[in-house]
Amino acid sequence: MQKTLPQIRTVLPGPEAQKVLALDRQYVSPSYARDYPCVAKRGEGMLVEDVDGNTFLDFSAGIGVVSTGHCHPGVVRAIQRQAETLIHMSGTDFYYPLLAQVAEKMAAITPGDFPKRVYFGNSGTEAIEAAIKIARYHTRRHRVIAFLRGFHGRTLGSLSLTASRSVQRARFGPLLPGVTHAPYAYPYRCPCRRDAAECARDCSCADYIDQTLFKTITPPEDVAAIVVEPILGEGGYVVPPARFLQRLREIADRYGIVLIFDEVQCGMGRTGKMWAAEHFGVVPDILVSAKGIASGMPLGVTVTRAELMDWGPGAHASTFGGNPVACAAALETIRLIEEKYMANAARMGSYLLERLAAWPNRHPTVGDVRGLGLMIGIELVKDRKTREPHPEARNRVIYRAFENGLLVLGCGESTVRLMPPLIVEAEHADFALEVLDRCISEIER
Ligand code: PLP
Repeated sequence: MQKTLPQIRTVLPGPEAQKVLALDRQYVSPSYARDYPCVAKRGEGMLVEDVDGNTFLDFSAGIGVVSTGHCHPGVVRAIQRQAETLIHMSGTDFYYPLLAQVAEKMAAITPGDFPKRVYFGNSGTEAIEAAIKIARYHTRRHRVIAFLRGFHGRTLGSLSLTASRSVQRARFGPLLPGVTHAPYAYPYRCPCRRDAAECARDCSCADYIDQTLFKTITPPEDVAAIVVEPILGEGGYVVPPARFLQRLREIADRYGIVLIFDEVQCGMGRTGKMWAAEHFGVVPDILVSAKGIASGMPLGVTVTRAELMDWGPGAHASTFGGNPVACAAALETIRLIEEKYMANAARMGSYLLERLAAWPNRHPTVGDVRGLGLMIGIELVKDRKTREPHPEARNRVIYRAFENGLLVLGCGESTVRLMPPLIVEAEHADFALEVLDRCISEIER
């Protein structure tokens, strides 16, 4: 492509895109929720080219997956070399060096200075399923506490924890028994109606667990795990006060509960540190990673304190999990993130957040701007006083951004999320902000 900024050449969707859309409409599951008709043909760095030759600046990174940008040459070479050598050799029945090497690397880079063990799946949801099973197996307890607005995947176990949007659960029940949801600390919309300062000082959402749930419907001695996203992803890019996660750690310790951090979306350098947990000074017992870990190759990883994996051969496995090609991509992705892209995420995240800080004063529909590193949410509201969410405005902004060559996604009820690949540079950030600024002004007219 050899360009750094996007260019729209046709009416969108263009003629070739129309053909793909017709085929897709006929054969592909209608459960996918596409916000706009972007029909991708290839990707390079920050750009995606569609089937009609239009190019787009990608501030969605394939929902946070292409952490090193589209088709990073180092990752492509690692995949090609591995594909020429060994594509598959199920790690559940055989051994190969890459599986142990990625396990060793993940144990080294995840928080906690203690022995660890690693389980491999193909996706975020599988890594969460494994985490639930490990916690239940080890503790011999069955209950799990998760959080309202949290997202952990769509297979039936993880879906039982997911509480992000009711359409994701409708008609699929009954789900896993023993799951209780507590409120997530959301400073802009505190479920306990406290102001941000009180929320930061002593978080009542965490108190709700031990002062209400444990005394009424969820006996703590039955609870295997607390599962939480250290930063809410699909639920709205919400950064909780550190106290929230610290209190969860205290509660888990007090009752022998396994604390599981779902870092599928917020991990792998996205927040400017390798793990979101590091911003809050809290070490989980299990850390779950996927999405950005292998730059687009499917991989889900569950990293636990070694003693939690006391299950034996046959207890759990996956044919494809930790596939050699995905592992090769992961090792190169981690190397690149450690070498330069994590630092870039911190730098460019500050750059974007500083420029966005003025938006709530400039735009009547911008209620809140928040984030850490390259995980940034812009929440749109109908009225800045009542804070009533404005999903129609958010959807319109996202669509107009697409028509202007910028790919962004929504999250929560009315938030625009910015999650570019970690390679993003100032000129991309300037372009994205300029487009969004214009699109928001347009819907405010
Ligand atoms: N956990 C979190 C925090 C996620 O954001 C997602 C996906 O968006 C998942 C789990 C599920 O991952 P996957 O779609 O790979 O199953």
